[in-house]
Amino acid sequence: MNKTDKASISVRKILCICLILIFIMGIGVMATNTKLTNVKIILSNSYEMTVLTSKTKVADILEQNHITILEDEVVIPDMNSEITANRTIKISKIDNQEQEIAEKEETITTEQILESYVSVVEKIVVEQVEIPYETITKEATGEGIKQNKVVQNGINGIKEITYKVRYQNDIEIEKAEISAKIIKEPVNKIVEVRTMQVTSRGGERIATTNPALTASTKLAKKVEGITPIVKNFNTSAYCSCSKCCGKTNGITASGSKATSWYTIAAGKGYKLGTVIYIPAFANKPNGGWFVVQDRGGAISNSKIDVYMGSHSEALQFGRKTLECYVYEF
Ligand SMILES: [Zn+2]
Repeated sequence: MNKTDKASISVRKILCICLILIFIMGIGVMATNTKLTNVKIILSNSYEMTVLTSKTKVADILEQNHITILEDEVVIPDMNSEITANRTIKISKIDNQEQEIAEKEETITTEQILESYVSVVEKIVVEQVEIPYETITKEATGEGIKQNKVVQNGINGIKEITYKVRYQNDIEIEKAEISAKIIKEPVNKIVEVRTMQVTSRGGERIATTNPALTASTKLAKKVEGITPIVKNFNTSAYCSCSKCCGKTNGITASGSKATSWYTIAAGKGYKLGTVIYIPAFANKPNGGWFVVQDRGGAISNSKIDVYMGSHSEALQFGRKTLECYVYEF
């Protein structure tokens, strides 16, 4: 036997010893692992069984014994835990009611969780707004003093605005315009402004009040919409006698018969048909409302002559300076 052979024999011996040692250790480990215990399993139908097992995890013990847990069953202790000191695994049915309650509780919990978060919601909102019309004035030339006249009524337009609105817990926190489009164009109001020609007459001012608005006579109603001018006239009275008129037929310059508490004579600067209100005669049958129906040789633009039923009455009135409201058409 040579040296090499001797060496290989000792290597083999060492290997053998090692293998034996490993084998012995393995048995030791296995012996520890295969420590068997009795576990009581109570099934959901109250059937009890005792199994001998080396496993300690609930899931493993059940699997080893071919026990499957159904959806409506619950295991105590749960599948992933190790068996407890009393070595009992209990399987029981979940009561339907309990299950429902459990589900409900879960829903509430989810909602509560959501509520506790700050939720920001973004919405697209479309709003319609009115576009106010504009008032345009046009100068118009015409004879005499005339009211400003509306020649076209204004109509508001409509605009549709699209906004991006952000809400935080239902409270608007941001609103940004994205786009706008005109649905209906507004229509301008056009007013014709007439130039007042008052130079040749003088002493006139535009009234700040309109007595026609509070009076009830026919004439007052007729001139309600007209802004009067105010002027102090040198006022006298006349009748249809020859002394007053040089004739006695009582026919006025307008062609109609003179009527007391209606007819008035004025200068040519005031058109026939002009309505004059004299507050000093407000207690008379006409309520103070007259119509320019007549002219007179001595009647200038600064004078008026009030027609009365009798010469004595006219004389009695005499001559007064009276404030008058003049309504022209
Ligand atoms: Zn007379």
